[in-house]
Amino acid sequence: MSDNWVHIVGGGLAGSEAAWQALRQGCKVRLYEMRPKKLTPAHKTGLLAELVCSNSLKSLNEGSAPGLLKREMELLDSLVVKAAKEARVPAGQALAVDREQFSGIISKTLQNNPNFELVEDEVSSLPTEDELLKSGDCWIVSSGPLTSNDLSKELLKLCGEEDELHFYDAIAPVIEGDSINRSVVYSASRWQEGEGDYLNIPLNKDQYNAFVDEVIAAEKMPLHDFEDVKYFESCLPIEVMIERGRDTLRFGPMKPSGLNDPATGRWAYANIQLRMEDREGAMYSMVGFQTKMKWPEQKRIFRTLPGLENAEFFKLGSVHRNTYLNSPKVLTDDLSFKRNRRILLAGQITGVEGYTESAAMGLLAGRAAAAKVLGKAAAAMPPQETMMGSLLSHVVSGGRGDYSPMNANLGLLPTIPKKRGVSKADRKAEQCSRAFEKFQDFSSTI
Ligand SMILES: Cc1cc2nc3c(=O)[nH]c(=O)nc-3n(C[C@H](O)[C@H](O)[C@H](O)COP(=O)(O)OP(=O)(O)OC[C@H]3O[C@@H](n4cnc5c(N)ncnc54)[C@H](O)[C@@H]3O)c2cc1C
Repeated sequence: MSDNWVHIVGGGLAGSEAAWQALRQGCKVRLYEMRPKKLTPAHKTGLLAELVCSNSLKSLNEGSAPGLLKREMELLDSLVVKAAKEARVPAGQALAVDREQFSGIISKTLQNNPNFELVEDEVSSLPTEDELLKSGDCWIVSSGPLTSNDLSKELLKLCGEEDELHFYDAIAPVIEGDSINRSVVYSASRWQEGEGDYLNIPLNKDQYNAFVDEVIAAEKMPLHDFEDVKYFESCLPIEVMIERGRDTLRFGPMKPSGLNDPATGRWAYANIQLRMEDREGAMYSMVGFQTKMKWPEQKRIFRTLPGLENAEFFKLGSVHRNTYLNSPKVLTDDLSFKRNRRILLAGQITGVEGYTESAAMGLLAGRAAAAKVLGKAAAAMPPQETMMGSLLSHVVSGGRGDYSPMNANLGLLPTIPKKRGVSKADRKAEQCSRAFEKFQDFSSTI
């Protein structure tokens, strides 16, 4: 057991996974979390690894990028993936969780470890490299998209220039399960995958157009705080999608494909899906319905939808800040800062996007920091042909053009050339199985 410490700022998805990985390597870990004393605009509890929006960690399908990422993380004993599987709720192929149970498992696992200390305080300054070389300690900053202001200023010092960027992200409404009219909506999973875990609201052409008109006319939250608004492409507010074209929603979150409306036996013109948020079905979220419409407008407009006439809302859609650094400019290959090799960056703030992606960067940072603290050779990093390796490569090398956040997707992996008679789905499956084999080779050598 090393007497030197790994200090972690932020007990979210990344910080919790980093803590677990450093403990596994034999380090002592001190995790600083400002909640519950100081909440962010999105977090509501003092639990570690709180999920601030959707309760889904995306697909478990082995032939998909999110499925591959989770398989790779499991090979390195990921606490986040393990807890998610233990807290799973039915959601077709998606790994959706009971959020309190999920965070509870992670909090308990860490706090039961005798080498783990939780400090419920905000961190607003970081030690110098000289101080850290003297103590032998390492720090990981995993303070997330809602990093506190003072820490953001401190991070700017490590960047050297105005490399920190801010933009905004939107969250979807959550409806009380028993306020949904079950005689109007129907249960089904797209393409009959799963046990019919979603509730569906089929719309005909007139109903769709009326809904789109309402959203266009609705009062939106004022934009004065958000002058240079840039959204995650995968989390666009519905009104922003409509600005791109009247039919955009019908080809996005309201796509009807793979869902036979029991009333007609055919796909509807458009379809809204509601996903269970907890095991009992007390809460349903409107899938892909992030919005910055004013709250009374949201209630009025969503209640015009069939089956939601009497809907009650646990949560309405809203807009939040996201913070990330220009990592390729400021970080080295092991996620440490060029200006201070004993401080590493992890999670969404590195420029990955999503719960699992953030946890994956925590996993790598935890291992890398542990190697430094224990005086071992630098931790091996996964090769670029794997999902985790390709995300890491995005973070430390960037892509073309301006650096922007990235989620796990198969476009990051080497492509499989098109072959006659081989379907797109088969090519994707092949891409994933090749990447997974590479990851198995990698994990067997560390
Ligand atoms: C409104 C909103 C909605 C989102 N919706 C989704 C979604 O549906 N699906 C998805 O996959 N991703 C979503 N994201 C992104 C999601 O937040 C991240 O993917 C994930 O939570 C990032 O993990 P993290 O560990 O990097 O940060 P977080 O999970 O946010 O953890 C960071 C932690 O650091 C703490 N902290 C901050 N500053 C300090 C400080 N100075 N001192 C001590 N502690 C500090 C915070 O309290 C927090 O607990 C959303 C983000 C936002 C803001």
